[in-house]
Amino acid sequence: MTDLRLPHRLTAPEPGWTVQADVVVVGSGIAGLTTALEARKAGRVLVVTKTFLDESSTAWAQGGIAAALHPEDSPEQHLHDTLVAGVGLCDETAVRALVTEGPKRVRELGALGANFERTPEGEIALTREGGHLRDRIAHAGGDATGREISRALIEALHAVKEDPGIEVVEHALVIDVLTDTTDHACGVNLHVIGEGQRDGVGAALGRAVVLATGGLGQVYASTTNPPVATGDGVAAALRAGVDVADLEFVQFHPTVLWLGRSAHGQQPLISEALRGEGAVLRDVEGRRFMVGRHPLAELAPRDVVAQGVISAMTETGAEHVWLDARHLPADFLEQRFPTIVARCRKHHFDPATMLIPVAPAQHYASGGVRTDLRGRSSVPGLYACGEVSCTGVHGANRLASNSLLEGLVFGHRIAADLAEQLPPQSEPVARAGSAGALDPAARVFIQGALTAGAGVVRSANSLSTAASSLAQLAAERRSDVLTTESWETANLHAVGALLVRHASLREETRGGHWRDDFPDRDDRRWRGHLISSLTGDGTVRTRFEELP
Ligand SMILES: Cc1cc2nc3c(=O)[nH]c(=O)nc-3n(C[C@H](O)[C@H](O)[C@H](O)COP(=O)(O)OP(=O)(O)OC[C@H]3O[C@@H](n4cnc5c(N)ncnc54)[C@H](O)[C@@H]3O)c2cc1C
Repeated sequence: MTDLRLPHRLTAPEPGWTVQADVVVVGSGIAGLTTALEARKAGRVLVVTKTFLDESSTAWAQGGIAAALHPEDSPEQHLHDTLVAGVGLCDETAVRALVTEGPKRVRELGALGANFERTPEGEIALTREGGHLRDRIAHAGGDATGREISRALIEALHAVKEDPGIEVVEHALVIDVLTDTTDHACGVNLHVIGEGQRDGVGAALGRAVVLATGGLGQVYASTTNPPVATGDGVAAALRAGVDVADLEFVQFHPTVLWLGRSAHGQQPLISEALRGEGAVLRDVEGRRFMVGRHPLAELAPRDVVAQGVISAMTETGAEHVWLDARHLPADFLEQRFPTIVARCRKHHFDPATMLIPVAPAQHYASGGVRTDLRGRSSVPGLYACGEVSCTGVHGANRLASNSLLEGLVFGHRIAADLAEQLPPQSEPVARAGSAGALDPAARVFIQGALTAGAGVVRSANSLSTAASSLAQLAAERRSDVLTTESWETANLHAVGALLVRHASLREETRGGHWRDDFPDRDDRRWRGHLISSLTGDGTVRTRFEELP
């Protein structure tokens, strides 16, 4: 296995300005905004976000947010379904926290202003998604749940901005976590495209730092994630010496609109909820290939459906399969799925009358910065929340609609921990071993290497080719030009290389990790987590932690 070496910091100019708060929250999706609103109880909060407040995966979420709200449902059943989807690697205590606190948190979100769809009796309306044995998914605006949640949280944030203080800095790319002489986190350095005093590289100092930077989808050529999802939080945490776990478990969404071989970057998602309402999958010859593969057929967990789609594509030699919703009434489709119908029509497909071409694309990172039940990472003072984190609730595969819930529940947990204990502010120290960013032109090659080598199906060969390409890119594409794009490219490279390393080491198939050369789950060797951290000499060390 090739050595993976990372700098302890990315090269950046010395901070030209400083801003101070009690808690620095990085990111403005459901995780960051929930943490910020709640952390006000602990002190003054600063939210920094890469582009606009409403630019996040959260705002793109369609299907909804899962919680046992139905009288015939229970946290125990939600726990059961989550553990099944996680294929033996969920942390049951973390899942229990998620599913028992979930219903209360979703109701609070409704009370805060998120307009969930309601039944005629005024209860939150619930639908079903893959892997759930009950109707459990609260949704809003038809298929615009995330947009509505983001709107409600941002409105709540604006309402409380003045007192006791949440400050927001937009267009602020966090580069690295700053630490003090005892290796406690005490802020971040960031590049702001702003005006006046806060322009260029500065420092945001805080008594605690919460990374809520979302996913890493842009490491693949085709993803449902927005452009801001470049894995910055995981990469910065790694450089700060934090434990990162389970990166090999990537969820590929089985039904992403297929727009041809050359389509690149964020692609339109066709939510699972459409299958929940009766749409079915057919191969290009018209056969329903999921029937007989799994008792839940098209509503099996995502990894199972994605594997079914890939097998159907391989068997027919096609580059996509069909999603068939033609038997559903056109007015129902338009009312229940306005976003999806509009997006399909924009690309000249009408779901009411036509078959829709779909194929898997990267969707969700189940792994990330390893945390405990209070969102604490292995570096004191540094927390992680939402998709950037690995709390243990997803195991080898996230259950649909559990991720918005995770950001919500753990945002509250982190804020509670901060209210209990906020260390004094300390001074950042310079760390040796910084290195430059990568040429942004390398991004497309990183994406190509990951897509070919560590996509839905992986093997020792494909992964070793990807590892070699990434090593070559690191050697040849260093850049002294420091821009948002070149720092992001360095981050994409770091998380991509670590993902490939984890996927090479795990010689089995489980959840979101499908090895062609090791097609079976292997509990004897692999019931546990791969955890990586950066050592003092700049090499990444990976260990296996077996479950008891
Ligand atoms: C198309 C789509 C549909 C989905 N549907 C659902 C669904 O129905 N239900 C569900 O539960 N989940 C769904 N998911 C997953 C879910 O949306 C995400 O996992 C969840 O929203 C993550 O929330 P978050 O707050 O952790 O991160 P995000 O919402 O992604 O927010 C991350 C924030 O961090 C900022 N950021 C990133 N890097 C930096 C940096 N270096 N410096 C400063 N700021 C930074 C970003 O700009 C952004 O504001 C979907 C995802 C996508 C992409």
